[in-house]
Amino acid sequence: HPSAPSLMMNAHFAGVGQDASREEYEHGIQVIDEDKLFNSNLGTYLALEKVIPAGFNYHLISVFGSQSTGKSTLLNYLFGTQFGVMSEQERRQTTKGIWMSKNKREGSDRGMADNILVMDVEGTDGRERGEDQDFERKSALFALATSEVLIVNIWEHQVGLYQGANMGLLKTVFEVNLQLFVKDSKTTPRSLLFFVIRDHLGTTPLANLQNTLIADLNKLWSTISKPKGLEQSRIEDYFDFAFVALPHKILQPEKFEQEVEKLGTRFREGYNDPKKSGLIDEASLPVFLPQYHRRIPADGFSVYAEGVWDQIVNNKDLDLPTQQELLAQFRCDEISREVLVAFDEKVTPLEDRQARDAQAGKPSVIPDLGAVMNAARSQILKDFETNASRYHKGVYTRKRAELESKVDSRLKALFQKQLSAAHKSGVEAFSDAVSGAVKIGQKKGASYDFAQIVESEKEKALEKFAADAQAIVVEGASWSTYQQETNLYKKELDEVSSRLRKEEMRRLATRVERWVRSRLDESIGLEFNKLGSGRGGSRAPEHGERPASEKDLWDRVWAIFTETVQDAERRFTDRARSFDASPEEVEVGLWRLRRKSWGVLRAKIDEEVMEGNILLKLRENFEDKFRYDEHGVPRIWRPTDDIEGLYTKARESTITLIPLLSRFKLSKTSAPPPLDAWIGEAPASVSPADEEDLTPIGGVDDDEGKSLEEEMTTISDAKQADLLIRFKKTADGVYVEAKRSAIGGMTQ
Ligand code: GDP
Ligand code: MG
Repeated sequence: HPSAPSLMMNAHFAGVGQDASREEYEHGIQVIDEDKLFNSNLGTYLALEKVIPAGFNYHLISVFGSQSTGKSTLLNYLFGTQFGVMSEQERRQTTKGIWMSKNKREGSDRGMADNILVMDVEGTDGRERGEDQDFERKSALFALATSEVLIVNIWEHQVGLYQGANMGLLKTVFEVNLQLFVKDSKTTPRSLLFFVIRDHLGTTPLANLQNTLIADLNKLWSTISKPKGLEQSRIEDYFDFAFVALPHKILQPEKFEQEVEKLGTRFREGYNDPKKSGLIDEASLPVFLPQYHRRIPADGFSVYAEGVWDQIVNNKDLDLPTQQELLAQFRCDEISREVLVAFDEKVTPLEDRQARDAQAGKPSVIPDLGAVMNAARSQILKDFETNASRYHKGVYTRKRAELESKVDSRLKALFQKQLSAAHKSGVEAFSDAVSGAVKIGQKKGASYDFAQIVESEKEKALEKFAADAQAIVVEGASWSTYQQETNLYKKELDEVSSRLRKEEMRRLATRVERWVRSRLDESIGLEFNKLGSGRGGSRAPEHGERPASEKDLWDRVWAIFTETVQDAERRFTDRARSFDASPEEVEVGLWRLRRKSWGVLRAKIDEEVMEGNILLKLRENFEDKFRYDEHGVPRIWRPTDDIEGLYTKARESTITLIPLLSRFKLSKTSAPPPLDAWIGEAPASVSPADEEDLTPIGGVDDDEGKSLEEEMTTISDAKQADLLIRFKKTADGVYVEAKRSAIGGMTQ
């Protein structure tokens, strides 16, 4: 016996067409065996018979009747089936349970409908009475839940025998029909009860037999207890009837075969005729009317039949709408899985690629992503619709939405990752393009237009992003929009622009600072050099008067410094404005420039007052005063000269330079220059990054603990004392030399 029922249907589609299987099903398939077990190979059988892809284009017939009334024989003649038939000698029951076979005479010139499935139901009257009724009822339920046409096979001599076994069977059918279909009266399918009267002698015309049967059926119907509200219902509300009489097979074999052949032509499709209901009395009318069809798609039939039988055999309330919903759920899930295979084939490699790229830290824009996503999505939804839309509408709609959201969540992830890759690469490209253009501009030396570069690169970047995004829009997917992402992208471009502009500002600041440095280097150097000549300027100083170059050294330094920086500030401002720097940014830039310039000046001064330099200058200054007269004429020392007096005067004069050079102060106020006021308060928009590379300035940066006085101290007191000693030694040397030359000059 077949193993435990398997609900998987995939095998049914996977062509089970081995010859071994064909032979196995030569006699059809035993759908229900004598132990009332359902055969889980039904699906395999239907696949083998190529019924699975038929959709609704198939038909089901069941045959009922007492045992050994020639049912199987008739089916075999009609449909070319090979149901087991009792041999003339043995005379024992052959058909057990319910057998099914596909019409083998399809395609013959009788014009039969496609895919007719015939169920041969075990005859009942040979069994124990109690068991009889149980199986009879169960098989009637099963047949009604699935079949369009119920053939009732009776001997002519049984007609009119109201108490006969056939009436028991029909009573069961009627009761079961009410039980099954009244719940959902709107969708109640009708069924055709097709009476086949066997061994018709011909003495009683078919019309008479028919009338007798109809009378009996109505009588029977009236005795059935009907559910509330349906007391007045008529038998015709649920059943159509057709009748045919066949000659005796043994006595009139040729006539029998002729009539069977004629009967076969009726198993074709007909159309609904609203005027014709209740009785199909014309001998040639087709039997397959649309309203009989149970509307179970062929690929779901085996699951449905199994579910129905399971309910029946366990004596559960057989609720067909529920069965159909369960079937729809099962099949829709199965179809989802099937259609996802093709979807996965297309989409998974893309997901893998994105994952790999992300892991490698270089998300890439997949070129044909949009085309693949669109194709995959429309294909899977179409495939699902094709296969699943035949099932229960509500379930189908729900399952379709489920599938769509499953598919969309994956596509959306692809979509968004691609957008973020486009975002990332776009920002990078933009930044590179701007830097590249700036570099070229710098190389050319011309004053490039930074704002213009940024503007045009930004426009290009936005266009590229829009094109990248548009290329992956998924048709019909409401989530595939990119407005928000575009806004974010634009925002980041702005941030990058402002970062690049800051860099540009830094570059500009560096350039301007360099300019300040070189200017100060030269001009301040010149001022200090003047100290070397003790006279300074062109005018010789009055006696005892300090030369202008010495007295107002710091005033001139300060003036040169402030003028230079002012000049630099103007340059900086003009240039910064040209690339749309904000007033705040310019303000910060200028503030930094002043501070840095001060640092430059301070370093220059330090350089000038370095021990070696300053000693040299003091010496020069002293020699200038000592060795030249007021007219600038070199002295030739004579012993009579007051060498000592001149020496002392010149030395004292030069010595006063030491304290002068030690403090940066203006001559008018004798106070340090107003550096703090000149630099000004830090602008409100200064950021920590702006301050990072700044050196603290005493008297300006309060928390430095260094006063302006200290900032302006160029030579410490100790250093001054040291300098004094060293200078005096040098001066002494010059004096001794002078003295010597005076004596030497006399001896010459
Ligand atoms: P089933 O049990 O209803 O399926 O009956 P079978 O088809 O197995 O046939 C039972 C017996 O009836 C067999 O011996 C057949 O040869 C015989 N038989 C078949 N058709 C006819 C018929 O039309 N008339 C008569 N009298 N016997 C038939
Ligand atoms: Mg039989």
